[in-house]
Amino acid sequence: MAHEIRIPIAVPLFIAGEEGKSAAGRRFQRENPTTPEQVVSISEAASPEEVAAAVAAAREAFDRDVQGWVSNYKLREQVLYRTAALLREHAPALETLLGLEVGMPRRQARPHVLAAAEVFEFYAGYASKLYGHALVLPNGSLITLLKEPVGVVGAITPWNFPLTQAARKLAPALAVGCTLVVKPASYTPAVTYHLLRLLHQAGAPPGVVNFVPGPGPVVGKALVEDPRVDKISFTGETETGREILAGAARTLKRVSLELGGKNPFLLFADAPLEAAARSLVFGAFRNSGQACGATSRLLVAEAVHDAFLEVMLPLVRALRLGPPLDEATDLGPLISRAQQEKVLAYIALGTEGGFRLLAGGRAPQEAPLRQGYFVEPTVFDGVDHASRLAQEEIFGPVLTIHPFREEEEAVALANGVTYGLTASVWTADMARAQRVARRLKAGTVWINDAYTQPPEGIWGGYKQSGIGRELGPYGIEDFVEVKQVYTDGTGLVQKPHYRQLLAE
Ligand code: NAD
Repeated sequence: MAHEIRIPIAVPLFIAGEEGKSAAGRRFQRENPTTPEQVVSISEAASPEEVAAAVAAAREAFDRDVQGWVSNYKLREQVLYRTAALLREHAPALETLLGLEVGMPRRQARPHVLAAAEVFEFYAGYASKLYGHALVLPNGSLITLLKEPVGVVGAITPWNFPLTQAARKLAPALAVGCTLVVKPASYTPAVTYHLLRLLHQAGAPPGVVNFVPGPGPVVGKALVEDPRVDKISFTGETETGREILAGAARTLKRVSLELGGKNPFLLFADAPLEAAARSLVFGAFRNSGQACGATSRLLVAEAVHDAFLEVMLPLVRALRLGPPLDEATDLGPLISRAQQEKVLAYIALGTEGGFRLLAGGRAPQEAPLRQGYFVEPTVFDGVDHASRLAQEEIFGPVLTIHPFREEEEAVALANGVTYGLTASVWTADMARAQRVARRLKAGTVWINDAYTQPPEGIWGGYKQSGIGRELGPYGIEDFVEVKQVYTDGTGLVQKPHYRQLLAE
């Protein structure tokens, strides 16, 4: 049965189409963040030598065009469509696994699985459409610009939305004919491996997708430094992104980075308050705020500050913490004890800083929640915008509020952080919305919406939120090299440009 899960799940290495074990016998466990005494998965931990073997498998699959993988786009199209279908078929199992491994509430896990399937469907359509360009020069010569797969891709993924983050790398890379080595976050090896198995089941030839769980500083680093890897596609913290960029410099590989955010929600006085409140609460607290695009700073026009809080706070206070597998749960636990402690430390900074705590502020002490890594949805008002609470990515259920008077001030506050991933603008005045959207330094600006990411759009950051774009047509470009083929059309023995050196 596709939806039965027996824990602990054994997660292997997967290299050249074969499941394997760590030769040194290294393993690591993932606990259930809701009930930490329960072990959800036990994974093999790859050594640098095993990473090298996975890279060799991906290299060989690419260089030898295994089963026509690189040359036959129909095969790739089929594999991607089948993977999407299998994801839909396995949705109940994956939902459960997301609840067990990530702590993602079922009502959020379900659309998460479907969103991953949609990414595969979207890019399946691209496999047969990798057109280049051609131009005939005035002298009759032909310039052909060919789009080619970049080659072997190292995909390093985070834990917060494990299926879609992996899908946004795998689907476009596979659509254009790349091969991959995937390094999952150590909190989510089982759910990531489930996706890899589905790709294999869908017909990805051996060596096309390889899987090496293990610690980032060992496994991720080995991938980044391996000269046979052509490109690293990374999603994770800005600090890790910096290390990856530095590590990749030695071999000058292509790198794309999807990093952190500290995203503003700009609420102007003419905005529809009920609609805006629902959007803000969704954007700030979905997945317990463990989301790069979370709307974590509310910039609110002073004139509607009180009226808006009257609508918004009851929505926050009504959010239900609970076991992720329960349909009624709105917020699950955070990913780890360390993350819970980090978020509580930020909350302590907020109270010590004298900011006004309007909701939440603690880890629940009641059974059974107290054993898990829960933190209440928390709101601070009157927060100094220069404080760490307003400047740093908390990656938890914490919203800060900052009133403003003028549009100019709102834009300055919105742009006044080192990040630039998303922003949300709420107003009934479309001229203002467009004007403000153009001035915001963010890869995505939503007008009268927040945190929706259709695969047809794009995703990526300005400033220290990243380099490159995922999703949409730009998601393909991240995995493509462009080659010029110049074909002489003159047939001349003495071509005009030779005269610079060779006499007639
Ligand atoms: P992280 O940086 O700790 O880890 C991400 C991945 O990198 C993991 O697989 C990890 O094992 C690996 N890694 C760690 N150190 C490494 C090293 N030295 N070399 C190579 N790999 C290494 O991030 P996380 O905690 O898993 O994820 C949360 C972060 O991801 C947040 O900052 C969030 O904003 C960001 N994120 C960004 C996006 C986006 O699209 N922009 C999406 C989701 C998450």
